[in-house]
Amino acid sequence: MAKVFSYCLTEPGSGSDASALRTRAERTNEGYVLDGTKAFISGGSYSDAYITMVRTGEDGPKGISTLVVEDGAPGLSFGALEQKMGWLAQPTEQVQFDNCAVPADNLIGEEGKGFTYAMNGLDGGRLNISAGALGGAQQALNQTIAYMGERKAFGKTIDQFQALQFRLAEFETKLQAARTFLYQAAWKLDTGASDASKYCAMAKLMVTDVSFEVANGCLQLHGGYGYLADYGIEKIVRDLRVHQILEGTNEIMRLIVARQMLAR
Ligand SMILES: Cc1cc2nc3c(=O)[nH]c(=O)nc-3n(C[C@H](O)[C@H](O)[C@H](O)COP(=O)(O)OP(=O)(O)OC[C@H]3O[C@@H](n4cnc5c(N)ncnc54)[C@H](O)[C@@H]3O)c2cc1C
Repeated sequence: MAKVFSYCLTEPGSGSDASALRTRAERTNEGYVLDGTKAFISGGSYSDAYITMVRTGEDGPKGISTLVVEDGAPGLSFGALEQKMGWLAQPTEQVQFDNCAVPADNLIGEEGKGFTYAMNGLDGGRLNISAGALGGAQQALNQTIAYMGERKAFGKTIDQFQALQFRLAEFETKLQAARTFLYQAAWKLDTGASDASKYCAMAKLMVTDVSFEVANGCLQLHGGYGYLADYGIEKIVRDLRVHQILEGTNEIMRLIVARQMLAR
């Protein structure tokens, strides 16, 4: 963990349809020369290196390869810091390649296999994003239980209202179910199960949706104070929202799951 790498797949014109990427890398005597732009890159301009999916061949997934571009490479530059709704603790920027030369050794694996490597990386990434979402939601719930024991309305603390107690019970049930499902998907990936990708996609869909729903519900249980920055709940809601979008949107998770079901 001495070096930080960014993962560069998305482009301004291609996100969900990632295999339509257009950043090109031409083979030279010394290595490759890259031209194109990657968008929404986490760690852009801060990372030590950029694992970049580029087009070295035909259109579609089979024409894609993976190159490592080290920070400081000639022709590597960055866009402005993106202004985001959440995830403010980490930078998101465009990564731009203008006649950017890298040595041949910077090719990962084989030419034409880059899209497979990129997709394999996303399985673990989806578990990671889910775990982050779950942790945020759990924190929101813990804070909410404490808050409800202090906040009074109609002469009693709000944790005495059964309608609100039932909300807590529902949140707890949903988070525990999400946690169990996430562990199962992680186990599938660890043990190399043939349906691991499907489980990673299902876990990402379920855990990030449930986590956002619970965090947003916790904001509601804080009343107006939940909307204020002082309590930290609105930050969790803003941070968890993007988990339903990145590492493949939750619509794309449905697409992956349905495709695999129909293929069987
Ligand atoms: C904060 C942040 C950090 C990010 N970090 C990275 C990073 O480090 N590296 C990286 O490579 N990318 C990164 N991304 C990009 C992210 O992965 C993409 O934004 C995401 O994959 C969606 O692509 P898009 O934004 O182009 O949306 P689009 O693909 O344009 O989708 C627009 C809408 O259409 C829906 N849609 C598209 N196709 C279909 C379909 N076939 N069926 C049904 N619905 C569909 C989508 O679900 C979405 O709701 C990051 C994004 C954000 C916001």
